Amino acid sequence: MAEIIDGKKISAQIKEEVKQEAERLLKEGVTVTLAVIQVGQDKASSVYVGNKKKACEYVGFRSLSYELPEETTMQELLDLVGELNGRMDVDGILVQLPLPAHISEEKVIQAISPDKDVDGFHVQNAGRLAVGIEGFVSCTPAGIIELLKRSGIEICGKECVVVGRSNIVGKPMAALLLRENGTVTVCHSRTKELDKITARADILVAALGKPKFITAEYVKEGAVVIDVGIHRGENNKLCGDVDFDSVAPKASYITPVPGGVGPMTIAMLMSNCLKSAKMRMDKS
Ligand code: NDP
Repeated sequence: MAEIIDGKKISAQIKEEVKQEAERLLKEGVTVTLAVIQVGQDKASSVYVGNKKKACEYVGFRSLSYELPEETTMQELLDLVGELNGRMDVDGILVQLPLPAHISEEKVIQAISPDKDVDGFHVQNAGRLAVGIEGFVSCTPAGIIELLKRSGIEICGKECVVVGRSNIVGKPMAALLLRENGTVTVCHSRTKELDKITARADILVAALGKPKFITAEYVKEGAVVIDVGIHRGENNKLCGDVDFDSVAPKASYITPVPGGVGPMTIAMLMSNCLKSAKMRMDKS
């Protein structure tokens, strides 16, 4: 039976480390500040935004909250982002996605200063990751690397398979595993014989957005299985992209849903904000 990778515990450790560093910066007169922008009142977004603000409070950051009405124009949003880009006291800017249909997410994300792009979505940060220059890395894949490292799982030389190629999870995940000297294969909806490829993986990352899709047949005996998916299934119960019950007996390590990858995303967001504040200090 697989060992459970405890994302709650590991994310708590990271937040604790960030908290201590934030206290140190505060003594030097720097208050780490994250600006969070939400447009409209999407219920799930409100929960995510609320959790991010709570995490800021916990680690001792200041959060600035901008709750804009659904009918906000793109120009109004771009103006706000521009104003926050220019503020010396703001370290990170986070625009909660999805945005209403009349606003281009792409334009808004690219308008955020790459130095304050704590989500790591700006094309400049994606490019930095691709060529191996320091920058902000998308929080979910960055969190997965922490889960692996802090569980003592070696990546170097391992066969790593990532299922999913989105800009926020799959692609940065593949780049990070490559940076750690894994041998990486990326699969997507057009991949042929997916089960044969995933069954080669020493480390399998499932980020395809299909509930319980990865069953035992997709997994090699003794593999490390990381489940990025989040879905609300029967009886309102959360599940991931991995069929936990059939895969866990075969894997060596597995992340549960909830309590695996999910909590790491916010912890890494806090870590990115801290990094931004330190960069600001170094510049001044
Ligand atoms: P996207 O929908 O943007 O991407 C899904 C990817 O999976 C695409 O690249 C798609 O391929 C691929 N895919 C879809 N179906 C299949 C299939 N049958 N076989 C192989 N590949 C397939 O999703 P995200 O990357 O944004 O998110 C993935 C999952 O992770 C979701 O469940 C999401 O809710 C969750 N998530 C969890 C987070 C957390 O904090 N735990 C954070 C972010 C996401 P193609 O490119 O060809 O369409």
